[in-house]
Amino acid sequence: MNQHPSSNSLFDRLRFILVGTSHPGNVGAAARAMKTMGFSRLVLVDPRFPDVAQHEEAIAFASGAQDVLAAAKVVGTFEEAIAGCNFAAALSARLREYSPPLATPRSLAGTLAADPALQPALVFGSERYGLPNEVIERCNVLINIPANPDYSSLNLSQAVQLLAYEARQALSGDRLPAQPVGFVGEAADLDEIEGMYQHLEQALIALAFLDPQNPKKLMPRLRRMFSRTQLEKEEVNILRGIAGKILQKRRE
Ligand code: SAH
Repeated sequence: MNQHPSSNSLFDRLRFILVGTSHPGNVGAAARAMKTMGFSRLVLVDPRFPDVAQHEEAIAFASGAQDVLAAAKVVGTFEEAIAGCNFAAALSARLREYSPPLATPRSLAGTLAADPALQPALVFGSERYGLPNEVIERCNVLINIPANPDYSSLNLSQAVQLLAYEARQALSGDRLPAQPVGFVGEAADLDEIEGMYQHLEQALIALAFLDPQNPKKLMPRLRRMFSRTQLEKEEVNILRGIAGKILQKRRE
């Protein structure tokens, strides 16, 4: 089952398992959704058409992702599909009375991205019936895509797209921590931050680290770096204190 034994990337580890899919178009569209986000391990459990990968509609909907479609593994049972997995997430539009703990696509993606020891699978149900309870109960978490409570059932391949997208974003590491770490002080105002940049610039010039005749991209780079943080008033004061001390020492 492990088609990529040499790679430990989530892109290679994450399996997308579609259970009992009826429409070939959805299988093709799911392959496309996966490939656009960099994933490729597609497993089909007991699809309505066992030769779905050769089906005209599947090929048309896969568009440029025919490689993913052609490589899809077709199996008869859920057990075969999850062989070698140590973590499975069931996707369901409906909450179930007996189900593993509920999580969101985003928090799940964070978990998947954080743990290189996971051999994870995302498990999607059929268009008409969704996932059977027996499958859901075998999974570690139940994922419900938050949606309109009056109509929360997404098209199968669109649900695949959403999960693939979240997994990719979590891997790109551009997420702020869901919970702020420790104490969070009062955010600095933009003009306070601007004052800090001026002060830092003077100090860097005084140190001859920054040449005002040839400043290159130093200040834009520092701005970019600090813009990735949420600067607090006290932090701005510390940085200004450092700049002030540098200027004072140079004068002495
Ligand atoms: N008629 C089915 C829904 C099928 S939609 C039912 O009542 O359960 C096909 C599959 O897409 C679902 O089995 C699920 O895996 C996924 N899906 C669709 N909408 C979803 C949502 N809001 N949250 C989580 N998964 C969803």
